[in-house]
Amino acid sequence: MLSYRHDFHAGNAADVLKHAVFVFTLGHLQRKAGPLLVLDSHAGAGLYDLTSAAAVKTGEFRNGIGRLLPAGSENAPELLAGLLALVQERNPPGKLAVYPGSPALVLAMKRPHDRLAFFELHPADHRRLVGLTGHAKGVVVERADGFKGLLARMPPTGRRGLALIDPSYEIKSDYDKVVAALAKSWRRFATGVYILWYPVIERASAAALTAAVAESGIRKVFRIELGMAPDAPGYGMTASGVLVVNPPFTLPAAAAEALPWLVDRLDARGPTVAEWLVPE
Ligand code: SAM
Repeated sequence: MLSYRHDFHAGNAADVLKHAVFVFTLGHLQRKAGPLLVLDSHAGAGLYDLTSAAAVKTGEFRNGIGRLLPAGSENAPELLAGLLALVQERNPPGKLAVYPGSPALVLAMKRPHDRLAFFELHPADHRRLVGLTGHAKGVVVERADGFKGLLARMPPTGRRGLALIDPSYEIKSDYDKVVAALAKSWRRFATGVYILWYPVIERASAAALTAAVAESGIRKVFRIELGMAPDAPGYGMTASGVLVVNPPFTLPAAAAEALPWLVDRLDARGPTVAEWLVPE
């Protein structure tokens, strides 16, 4: 239980896709002046040292952010530009030593009137996250179940919100729980924007998850998936994707532009998807 540590995976191809979509979507929502609640149901430690033993051991970041940062945010497709600029800001010029997780990204983008809510169950990661946020104004960090935290805070005051739902899926029941939590939250707050991340480890589990979302009654769900290798049960994560509920209207075109660039840079050899899972 809770053996998953994101330190081993920070900055890999799956993180880059998820965080690019997260930063792009948040940037779009912030074009309107009103305050936002950004909720991160499975927040992790927040910031990752890429020189740590864990990161070096797997070297996953080298095949993810390590292949993209040298391009520079100026030359990247719009979907990636915001993320790459924030990673650049965190690192010395020309170097890649740390990778910002979703909390560090949203902390960098937070406007004074935005509110952030982070949930993280792992005691060590929770401690690191508290250290990162530094009890900043308008930021809540709870060592609590993120599925319950999501439901407790929806709908947000002001009815503008973005939720990132990003479990590790180390427990099989997470596949059902994410769909149940998303559907329940959507019924309370149908105009909210939700980003749900999923891995493709066994295609059947990922397909069951997307089918359950498609049949849940939720409308306006855009799906982006990037396969690093063809489906291969028993060989770990070969692909990953995000489902974005109520996406920015610019997301489908941005994803269509970014995927071929990502495939080329990351030498991705699996299936890619950018399509409406559920139209309006
Ligand atoms: N969202 C982070 C990011 O993008 O940087 C990465 C999160 S990582 C994939 C998943 C995290 O969820 C782990 O740190 C794990 O300890 C935590 N976790 C697992 N079950 C949880 C639960 N029920 N509620 C809150 N956190 C949980």
